[in-house]
Amino acid sequence: MLRSARSTEDRPMAGKGRHFLNIPGPSPVPERVLRAMNRQIIDHRGPEFQTLGREVLEGCRTVFKTRQPVVIYPSSGTGAWESAIVNTLSPGDKVLMVETGHFATLWRQMAARWRLDVDFVPGDWRHGVDPAVIEARLVDDKAHAIKAVAVVHNETSTGVTSRVAEIRKAIDAANHPALLLVDTISSLGSVDYAHDEWGVDVTVSCSQKGLMLPPGLGFTAISEKALKASKSNGFMRSYWDWEEMLKPNAQGFFPYTPATNLLFGLKEAIDILLEEGLDQVFARHKRLAAATRAAVEAWGLEVLCKNPAEYSPVLTAVLMPPSHDADAFRKVALEKYDISLGTGLAKLAGKVFRIGHLGECNELMLMGALSGVEMGLAAAGVPHRRGGVAAALAALEQPEAANAPRKVA
Ligand SMILES: *Cc1c(COP(=O)(O)O)cnc(C)c1O
Repeated sequence: MLRSARSTEDRPMAGKGRHFLNIPGPSPVPERVLRAMNRQIIDHRGPEFQTLGREVLEGCRTVFKTRQPVVIYPSSGTGAWESAIVNTLSPGDKVLMVETGHFATLWRQMAARWRLDVDFVPGDWRHGVDPAVIEARLVDDKAHAIKAVAVVHNETSTGVTSRVAEIRKAIDAANHPALLLVDTISSLGSVDYAHDEWGVDVTVSCSQKGLMLPPGLGFTAISEKALKASKSNGFMRSYWDWEEMLKPNAQGFFPYTPATNLLFGLKEAIDILLEEGLDQVFARHKRLAAATRAAVEAWGLEVLCKNPAEYSPVLTAVLMPPSHDADAFRKVALEKYDISLGTGLAKLAGKVFRIGHLGECNELMLMGALSGVEMGLAAAGVPHRRGGVAAALAALEQPEAANAPRKVA
């Protein structure tokens, strides 16, 4: 019999309790979402689909905090990156991007492959986008050669969240007409974000992180200014073309076969988020992140993010002590305690591990994960102090000073 080595159903420890998927995306899919998707396929040109299509397109507007169109593609987040580029820019356009980490670097590489002229502000992978640098670059650009500023909101490789509202203010302060493109792939649905209020022109996202769905959906929320730019820009495009999408979307339909069952899941996931309340969801993530950092500090390890104003509510990247390999530790934690932790990406390989605490995660799930990390550190012989789990518990027992009050049922 063929066995897939890593299937949760099949794996040897399945009878001894569940796997802990604590990578920062894909995140665990709630049971309710799994059940919502476990349905017979329906006619994507029929009335039942039309109702679903209208509901999810409207629900997305609520989550992106926009009254403008949100386009849903059957794609990964990378596809939605490409959509943002090919719909708004033209070959040779100048774009300002910032090296916050691995994902910013990948988006920049894509922009370069599209022959955009990228000014890539160097970074140390421990800080977010500095709004003052954006302002200075744009002030210098008297000729308005820069057509777009493209940044990553939550840099998933480093656990650093950039301050998008302040970046918007910096663009306005420079009185510059550049479009603002933002990757919210790992923040949407976990970290406060407001497409309209923050004047973002294209917000890029996808399904498998804060939205708690399986991989397979990509999103772009589009401002009027971005839509206008798409009508006069010079890139060849077809699959990603907004106009082709928006026409049938107005009736709840899609120009080609949509990922129907993922859309059933999306509807359920949006319902789950709105039942808890977006503010409560964001406060929960901040609280779990604060408890995680308390554990890291007690272990005597270091959080990669250097600026407390940019700590990620979604994940915490932890630096390994010198001469200890993060992947060797992750392997021990997986084999002994059945927990998956995020690996260090690109130049952080071996140097950091990442604890995901996003999506469907609560205090007890987090405490299970942190116990797995603490026991894993001991089992792998990584020098640390005990007591991280106790410190996280103490943090969770604190009144929610830094967080909005929770809704009392
Ligand atoms: C995961 C991620 C991506 C890539 O998304 P895919 O679905 O793997 O294409 C891009 N940007 C950020 C910030 C991410 O976290």
